[in-house]
Parts: sequence; C-alpha cells; structure tokens
Amino acid sequence: MEADEVEAWVEATLGALTLEEKAGMCSGADFWTTKAVARLGMPALAVADGPHGLRKSTGDGLRGSAATCFPTASGLACSWDAELVAEVGAAIAREARAHGVGVVLGPGANIKRHPLCGRNFEYFSEDPLLSGQLAAALINGLQREGVGASLKHYAANNQEGWRNVADSLVDERALREIYLAGFEHAVRGGDPATVMCSYNPVNGTYASEHEWLLTTVLRDEWGWDGVVVSDWGAVNDRVAGMRAGLELEMPASGGLNDARIVQAVRTGALATELLDRGVRRVLRLVARYHGGAGGAGGDADAHHALARRAAAASAVLLTNDGVLPLASAGTIAVIGAFATEPRYQGAGSSQVTPTRLDTLLDALRAEAGGRATVTHAAGYEAANARERPDLVDEAARLAAAADAAVVVVGLPASFESEGFDRRHMRLPAQHDRLVEAVLAANANTVVVVVGGSACELPWAERPRALLLANLGGQAGGSGLADVLLGTVNPSGRLAETYPLRQSDHGSDGWFPGRRQVQYRESIYVGYRWFDTVGLDVRFPFGHGLGYTTFAIEGLALTGGTDADAPGFAQQVRVTVTNTGTVEGTEVVQVYVRGPRAVVHRPDRELRGFTRVHLAPGESRQVTITLDRRAFAYWCVATHAWEVEPGSYEVLVGASSRDIRACASVTLTSAHVAAAVAPGAGWVPSPAALTAEAFAAMLGRAIPAERPARPFDVNSTLSEVAAVWPGKKLLATVYAQAMKQYGVAPEPGGAGATSGGSDGSGGSGGGSMVHHGVRELPLRGLVLLGRGKFTWRSLDRLLWLLNKWPARRSRAV
Ligand code: BGC
Repeated sequence: MEADEVEAWVEATLGALTLEEKAGMCSGADFWTTKAVARLGMPALAVADGPHGLRKSTGDGLRGSAATCFPTASGLACSWDAELVAEVGAAIAREARAHGVGVVLGPGANIKRHPLCGRNFEYFSEDPLLSGQLAAALINGLQREGVGASLKHYAANNQEGWRNVADSLVDERALREIYLAGFEHAVRGGDPATVMCSYNPVNGTYASEHEWLLTTVLRDEWGWDGVVVSDWGAVNDRVAGMRAGLELEMPASGGLNDARIVQAVRTGALATELLDRGVRRVLRLVARYHGGAGGAGGDADAHHALARRAAAASAVLLTNDGVLPLASAGTIAVIGAFATEPRYQGAGSSQVTPTRLDTLLDALRAEAGGRATVTHAAGYEAANARERPDLVDEAARLAAAADAAVVVVGLPASFESEGFDRRHMRLPAQHDRLVEAVLAANANTVVVVVGGSACELPWAERPRALLLANLGGQAGGSGLADVLLGTVNPSGRLAETYPLRQSDHGSDGWFPGRRQVQYRESIYVGYRWFDTVGLDVRFPFGHGLGYTTFAIEGLALTGGTDADAPGFAQQVRVTVTNTGTVEGTEVVQVYVRGPRAVVHRPDRELRGFTRVHLAPGESRQVTITLDRRAFAYWCVATHAWEVEPGSYEVLVGASSRDIRACASVTLTSAHVAAAVAPGAGWVPSPAALTAEAFAAMLGRAIPAERPARPFDVNSTLSEVAAVWPGKKLLATVYAQAMKQYGVAPEPGGAGATSGGSDGSGGSGGGSMVHHGVRELPLRGLVLLGRGKFTWRSLDRLLWLLNKWPARRSRAV
C-alpha cells in the first residue's frame, strides 16, 4: 500500500473498531502475534526474535525453527562495517518473510557499560557512535527487505541480574552522551518500525511508562513515529504506559490489561485521543509489515556463505609476530573442545537453531589438510569449567609433537546468557592452565579466544599470535580457518576495551546493582574512562592487526569554525597507504578531544570512522565529515547539545591509543558553558566517584533504595520467599517453569542462589530460566498468566504476604 492508502485504511479501520477492539489492538493475541479483527479483514502481524538470526518459536521452550545463525552483535561490531551488517540484516529479513514474520526483534543497541553484563554478546559496543551506526545498518538491512525491526532495549538496561526491577540511576549527561546516543543514532539513521522498551526503571520510572523517554525524547526530539512495544512482560502500569507512549504490550496479558484500558477510557482516566493515537500507530505497523510475510527465504547456501564472510570479518587479530597466517605444511595441533563443539552464540531469547554448523577442525582439515596434518585434543570439556588435568596433559603431549599449535579457549556456554551476569572476567581456570601448558610445550603457539565480551587474558603477551574469534555464528569455524590460513586478511577492530583486569573499569564498583544501579562513572564508559584516567589496558578500543600494514598521513582539516553557523562541519582528510605486501583493509578512526575549559569531558571520543580497502602499495585519500554534534557535549543547564568555544584536537589513528596524526581547530560559539558541578577540574578516578559527585551530577540527592517490605506488585519471587507463603509460591512457579521449558532444576531447587555463570553446570538457557523465575516480579504472574491469575488474585496474594509476620520468615 502507498502511504496515503495506508492512512485512509487506518482512519477507516479506527472508525470501525469498538472501544474493546481498540484496547485489544494494544496488546498481542498471544506470545508472538498482534490481534486480527476478522470482521474488518484485519490480519495479525507476527513477530519473532533476532537479532543475529531468526528465532521463530516452535513452541518448544526457547527453540526456534532452523535459520542461519550469524555472528552475534558483539562480533559483527568488530567488523566496523555497516554494509556487511546491513547485508546480514537483509538475509535475516528474507528468512523472516519466508516464515511469515513481519517484525524481527532486534537489533540491541545497549551500551556495554561493564564486561560482565550477561547480554553483552547481543550488543555492539561500549561506544554509542559505533553501536548506533551498526544498529542503524542492521535496521536498514531488515527493512529494505520489507521486514520491520525492533530496536531494543530502550533504555539504560546494562545488566541482566535484577533486570525487571533494578532502577538505573543515570545522570543527564551520561544518558544523553552515552546511553541514549546509541539509540538516537539508530533511530535517526534507521527509522525502525518499532522500539522495544526495556524492563528496568530509569531514574525511578519504569521504562514502559516513561513519558520523557517514550514520547519527549523518542518522538518529539528525534522525530520518530513508530510503535513502542514492551519487552516481554515489562509492563508495570498499563494505563500509565498508554499515556506515556507505549502502544503495544507483549505478550498478551489474557485480556486483563486491555480491560484496564477500557475502564480507564470509560472513567476518563485515559483520554480517547491518547488511545486513538496508539491504535493508529499499531494499525500503520500492521498495514506496513504484515505484508512482509511470505516470499522466498533466500538461498541457505548463500546465507551460510555470508555468515562465513561475517565471521571472518568479525575476527580481531590482537597480536602476531608473523606466525600467522599459518604455514599450511607440517603438523598443526588444534587444541580445544571448541574446535569440534563450537561456542558460536549466547543463550536466551536470541538463540538460533542453526541450519548447519561448521567446526574449526573440519574447516582446517578441508582447507589445509592436503598439505598439513591436523591433529586434535580436547583440552577441556566444552560445556563446563570442570578441572581436567588429564586433558591438559594430553593436549601438551600433542602440542609438543606438532610444528605449531592452535589453542582455542574461551567462555563456556554456561557463562554467557540473557537473564544473569557473569560472575568474574576470567576464563575458566582449566582454560588458562591449558594455554600455559601448550605454551610450554610448543614455541609456535597461536591462541584463539572465543566469547561474547571482554575477558582477562593474563598470558596475552606470550603466544606468537592471539586472535579474538568472538561468537562467530554457524560458520564461525570456517570463517576462523579462513583467517588463520590467510585466505582472508583480518580487518576486525575491537569494539570494546580489553582491560588488564576487571577492577580497572570505572563501573566496576557500581556493577551490578540489585534494586538500584548507580551509574557513578557517568560518561566515563569504556575507553572514555581508561584514556581519561590514563590506565594501562590489555588491548585498547579500536585495536586490531592484519597481514599487512598501513600508513595514515597528511591530515588536513578544512571547514567552518563558527559552530553556530547553519551547516557547520569540519572535513577530516587523510591519506592511507598499504605499506605491506598483501591487500587489506584499514579502519581509520577519528577521535575528538574537547577543550575541557569549563565542563569535564573525556580525553577523546570516537566521532567518525571509515574502512579503506587497498592493494599493496596503493594510497587513497579519505574524507570523514565531523558535524556540529561531533564537537558538542550535552549541557545540563540548557538541556541541549552545545559546543564550548575553544580549541579542539582531532586525532586520527588505528585505535584509541594508536594515534597517527593530530591537528587542532579553534571553534567559536555563542554558548557560554555554565560551570555545573562537579566542574571542569573534575577528573574521574575510582576515588572521585563519590556519593557527593554523583549527587551533583544527578542534580538531586541519591534516592534511597526501595525496601524489601511491604511487598508490592514489583516484589520478586525471591524477595517474597522470605515469608512462608512466598516460599511456597516460588517453589510452585519454579516447578512449573522447569516443566514448561524442559529445564532440569538446579541442585538447591527454587531456593538455590547459584547461577550458571561459574560454569559449574547447566546450559546458559537453563540458568536463564532459573534466574528468570527467582527475579520475576509478582505482576509477572498476571502478565504471563494468560488471564488465569488476575489483578484481584494478586491483590489477595499481596495481602496475605504482607500480613505474614517477618519474624516467622525463613530466608531462602
Ligand atoms: C527479551 C527480548 C526478547 C523478548 C522476546 C525478552 O525476554 O529481553 O530481547 O526479544 O524476550 O523473546
């Protein structure tokens, strides 16, 4: 339908809907579809999970029907390649269409505030520009094939533990410059069909009813006019959500929240215009995207080949003394269970059932087997972190007998999942020991690290080469072989800093929170922290090597200097030369260092980047445009992006710490930067993240954390388990969920406190269900209860729980 036909259809349909039907349009029919209205010939719209492949639920736990599994966002991000990410989006859309799916639930644009966030593998970067541009690319890819995207999880959802109730306390600058900026780039650059609000409250108000987030910022400021969909079960107060700009509640609440909307309209608590505004948006979405359903699914072989290309493009060569690419002669000992049982994605709602699965061992044998002998030892158990000295010994013997060793280590599946956070940043001790043993046995050792977020790598200097494979998707094994053998010259660059140790992160003292998460490090996230504080890191943001080398020279800045002038921009021009002997790609990164005269700001911030592919000896001039925003900070006095007058340095290089050229420009602006506490002299450091500094940035006293009692609709099952009826309730819901998802109970049952993140056992998906039940707020019983457990039943339950004397409680 053309746009004016859509509008005519929307108005005609809206006029024909009863109040009950209108309210019904604002929630799903079930878990995965909107409601159809048969008498008006209105179809249902089907949605399904992404973001790195389609998970069209088969109704069997978290399983989906087979689809191409691409590298997860954390891997794709290392390509710094928007075109590639868009190609991946388009392929996912073709598969979605073939399954009748009109909207894919992705991409995720949350910032990696801390390496331990369980869902970091689903997110792109610690930097909002990179994250937002790649999210926009995925959206554009999906939507150019006629399938809508759902940009998630909006906003400030940066930990998995307590995700339903943890109140993210974030100061205005950090929100604007870091946490919202990624979404802003994605919304402006991709115009997603839907935005999914997150579970958590932000500065005291649930994201699902946060008018400032959902309407003021998202629509009034960013000019977006799509549908906000709730994360599954994220609705707190449905009517408040409707007023705030949450159009579509998912999944269906069994009609219970629809009835609340009807009642609110009848009593005048919700204006009909507000309901109509929401229904119009949902109708437009249905009109535009239900037709996306149907069509060929694309060529499975071609999608697998794309997944292989994406896996190779995601790999980051962290060190190499020349041992790579591997000489494909002699004996290569491939060590690690992940070489035969790959770790290629994370657990949870994003888990794709792959159409096929390549392994590194098979791929190496196929590609190099003719000339080299490829042997293998497991070295560890793939599924867990159990100590197995016998496997280490066996691997060391095999390595000693080979010409070169490739050791694949990383995070087991039980470490990385939606629903809970990692407990520490180390690899399993078994993996560290294996690396040490192989290094001692064979001087020609290459280490490959697999995982969805940064790890501590204490031995990183010692292998002859170190390669980060990320979570490479179903073709991760073959993509990795392409890089190891030199068929592909790696050009991946880190999208997050690898610190020396977890405690070096600015957020570490303030992660994770439970009922409240204080973002005390404010704007100093990732390299913004490390480069401002001046801490050594293991590998800096943006770092990555290849099999050739590049020169970046001849930096010239041209353009206006009056930042207030319409169309103000600075052009950054450099010449890039391939100084090596093979063709390859450099990622030219442009950072800006602001004047820091009145306001405090990071030492440098990524403001532009471009990829340049060059033949040996070839040179090319590239231009990167910096607009006004590239020089601006968010001013909490004017509540706007402002350019502080003064001198700006433009740093061009190959990582945040490998700056090859630098130039400065003095900008004028009428803006008079206000001295807002904590002021220009404020330099972040762990000791500087005081309660006073944080309160000054928040502009108010730090609110008290919500007490556990009295219990209310947002008390979690584990909290109410402190009283006997709550303990019974938790045990009952836990048993039901274990059955529904086909998951084995944890040894301690419902009351156990251990997660799967220590790798002691269980899959990530299983642990997600365990955590999900314990951290389910009581309102979840209504929202996910398919209408069987009503708001009245919840009121009665709360009465009982609150009446239960605390002294008779038994903690679980
Ligand atoms: C996740 C979303 C996902 C949804 C549907 C939620 O628990 O947070 O990312 O799209 O479930 O599976």
